Amino acid sequence: MRWVKFLQCGQPAWGHLEGDIVTLHSASPFDGGRHETLERLPLDTLDLLPPCQATKIVCVGRNYAAHAQELGNQPPPEPLLFLKPPSALLPPRGAICLPPLSQQVEHEAELAVVIGKRCHGLSGNEPLLPYILGFTCLNDVTARDLQKRDGQWTRAKGFDTFCPLGPWIETAPKPGPRPWDGLSVECQVNGERRQHGNTADFLFSLERILVAITAVMTLEPGDVIATGTPAGVGALRVGDRVQVTIEGIGTLENVVAS
Ligand code: ZN
Repeated sequence: MRWVKFLQCGQPAWGHLEGDIVTLHSASPFDGGRHETLERLPLDTLDLLPPCQATKIVCVGRNYAAHAQELGNQPPPEPLLFLKPPSALLPPRGAICLPPLSQQVEHEAELAVVIGKRCHGLSGNEPLLPYILGFTCLNDVTARDLQKRDGQWTRAKGFDTFCPLGPWIETAPKPGPRPWDGLSVECQVNGERRQHGNTADFLFSLERILVAITAVMTLEPGDVIATGTPAGVGALRVGDRVQVTIEGIGTLENVVAS
């Protein structure tokens, strides 16, 4: 099932997507979704929003060996966590703004996990799916020069518009008990493939990641986990069209502006 969040008469609304038609629901999936209404809306007429309201976006650095290598880093011995602020969220089709403080802004295509149920202190032995609402595409836009200069990543990862998310939440990208496993993750810039990886190549499993995060902080419904980016990160320039495509989910498309 695909949950779409969009603006209707200036207010956030939720619906589910079938083909290219969205059926409006009377409540968000975080409130049970309640009933579908009779209202049917064509997807391409909707003003899409990032498909959740995160209290935090928790990211995993260097979760693919080839990406750690391309930036000259060793694979970390345990999940390397950092945060992006919710103020960085950007809807599908929104413009990524290149800040004057950076000369090197790069794309990072990532599978994002959207939390559906509060959790803390997970052991790794319990099934994860009860805590997950679904999955979506995320672009962990990064000011690489500031990341190298600062030694920690708050500025590099935290600019407004640096977290495109969407286009919707897919509850099951593939059938089975591990619907996040074995999905291809791709980034195209102006139609040219820059990144291509597969979640089967995670250095740390999603179980391991959630254990590491919830040993530190409580995850709330709507919180987002970004699972790391495969090799091939590269620069974005004004006017670029950047697409993150994940198998079984869809394509998140944004433009780059000054
Ligand atoms: Zn990243």
